Amino acid sequence: MSFNLDEESLRQIVRGVIREMNGVGGQKSCGCANKGAPAIISSSSSQGKGIFTDVASAVNAAYEGYRQLCKGGMEARKKIIDIVKAMTVVNAKEWGVFEYNETKIGKLDHKIGKLEIVKLVPGVEWIRPDAYSGDHGIMLEEYTPYGVIGAITPVTHSIPTIAGNIVNMVAAGNAIVFNPHPGGVKSAVKAVSAYNEEIEKQLGIKNLICCIANPSLESFDAICKNDLVSIMCITGGPAVVNAAMKSGKKSICAGPGNPPVIVDDTVDVNKAASDIIAGGCFDNNLLCIGEKEIFVLESVADKFMRALDSQGAVKIGGSTLDRLTDAVFSKKDGHYALKRDLVGKDPYVLGESAGISVSQSSPMLYAEVDANHPFVIEEQMMPMIPVVVVKSFEEALAGAVRAEHGYKHSAIIHSMNVGRMTEMARALNTTLFVKNGPSTCGLGLGGEGYLSYSIATATGEGISNPKTFTRRRRCVMVDNLNIF
Ligand code: NAD
Repeated sequence: MSFNLDEESLRQIVRGVIREMNGVGGQKSCGCANKGAPAIISSSSSQGKGIFTDVASAVNAAYEGYRQLCKGGMEARKKIIDIVKAMTVVNAKEWGVFEYNETKIGKLDHKIGKLEIVKLVPGVEWIRPDAYSGDHGIMLEEYTPYGVIGAITPVTHSIPTIAGNIVNMVAAGNAIVFNPHPGGVKSAVKAVSAYNEEIEKQLGIKNLICCIANPSLESFDAICKNDLVSIMCITGGPAVVNAAMKSGKKSICAGPGNPPVIVDDTVDVNKAASDIIAGGCFDNNLLCIGEKEIFVLESVADKFMRALDSQGAVKIGGSTLDRLTDAVFSKKDGHYALKRDLVGKDPYVLGESAGISVSQSSPMLYAEVDANHPFVIEEQMMPMIPVVVVKSFEEALAGAVRAEHGYKHSAIIHSMNVGRMTEMARALNTTLFVKNGPSTCGLGLGGEGYLSYSIATATGEGISNPKTFTRRRRCVMVDNLNIF
């Protein structure tokens, strides 16, 4: 007698047998939700620990990793976070160079810097219960894990987003399956397999962090549809955010931005120029929070642009600007779309595309344009920042609102006028609003606050932290244990 079984049927039979061996649904020896995943999982692919080519295997493995983490308790979470933070700092140079060579965007020093600061991302110290005591007893609300989180990461910061997500998500007690942007997948695989190797060595927990080795929009879709994945966390542009929103799975979406900057007539324009260069040119303007277009009041515009010049920025215009615009955007049916070739490139490379020579030490290009220019309207993600000269604060505000597109992401103002700050905060309604500093101050880098590489704009959770990835659950004791 011969059997003709395909791979999937065989897998299902093996799963069934394993389930029976463990009792249907497996054993529940910890507080984690039991969704009937097999308790024994095949090990990772030869590409590294936690690296999988098929979504179902990755999710099943991550679910088993989650159950192991539950057993390890807070102590295990703390150790894993220490491992991830320490490894990210120790390997910052090697991994920064690797990611730079793979993605070919941004600035090498900043790639390394983004990894060195992962240690600033908050961990288990954020997971504290809330308690109430009253005439009817006591209540405890705990921040508990979801289980397995499906995470999409961008090409602009592949390892930094993965590392930051792990710290937040594992602090909350979760396991993760990453579907990295294909352009940064080799970097993702390198870091994830190294983290797993060390976590397994020190704690014996396998596949807590899984990664798809051949990510695609199909694998993204398969993660969304997998029942063992409780929620999605999307860090990326409009296409992936829209896809997640339509998936039917709860999604925390750190979506696109196009942060406007207003410079008014009450500030030191030299400082404003310096702050804009520091924030907008960091990693060649790849940061989603980075300054993307400037609205400056007419009365200080010339002085402000002279300040930019004196700090090494190069002004372009006329046919040079036209050539660069054509190189950066395509136009179809009256709409501009960003081509990817010049994203995150150095100013001198942008200059070459526009047919001019720009010093390699110049931090940025800028051009005086009107408020409808594609460099104002589109999220360009490169160090060419348009300057719109406006007659009034009201005109600046209207331009800023339009350019931000209601993404609710980030905005910046340089002003000493508190009334204007308030008006802009209300009109823009963004998740981050930085006053009188570089945009990076909004992520705890030179400003107060904490760091995250996933700013949940579209779905409103804000700058993500461990609590973002928890379910809030309540325990109530009626008429007792209130000891006041
Ligand atoms: P992207 O979503 O624009 O990626 C480009 C394309 O690659 C997508 O349209 C899709 O076709 C494909 N793709 C993306 N991710 C994929 C995946 N995981 N698997 C398969 N295919 C995938 O994003 P990007 O260029 O990587 O990142 C830049 C965008 O992300 C910007 O819009 C930026 O503002 C945003 N971003 C937001 C945050 C935040 O915290 N809010 C952080 C970083 C980046």
